[in-house]
Amino acid sequence: MNCVICNNKNFIYDKNISAKCTKCDILYNLQTEELNYSDGGGQDIPTEEKSKIRVKNALKRFEIIVPHKTTHNIFVDIGCGSGEMLEASKSFFDFHLGYDENKVLINHTKNSGLNTFNKYFEKEDLAKLSSGGGWLFL
Ligand SMILES: [Zn+2]
Repeated sequence: MNCVICNNKNFIYDKNISAKCTKCDILYNLQTEELNYSDGGGQDIPTEEKSKIRVKNALKRFEIIVPHKTTHNIFVDIGCGSGEMLEASKSFFDFHLGYDENKVLINHTKNSGLNTFNKYFEKEDLAKLSSGGGWLFL
């Protein structure tokens, strides 16, 4: 293993629990497993109540952006999760697009009527999807 910060290969191990980089002191938790987001890991489909709170918070975030919004009419959310930011974007933008690796959440967003894709966003998508409007990325 190499330190992600300084690329050092030397660590002080505490059993199989942690490893501390001898150069930059970053501490690694050795008991975590790599998270696979594609099958729903990391984030569950939120309850209706939680989703409503998230949409309300997202609306407040858009209110911060709106004074600076000029020609943008398409909102793109890369890593859209369960889609609350996209839902809130409907009040401010003509179009929305969401991207996420998580199949479970993308199915949830599609069932909610959102325009989402179960794939990584790629710059080539801009050419395919652009309708001449401005873009806003979060
Ligand atoms: Zn280091």
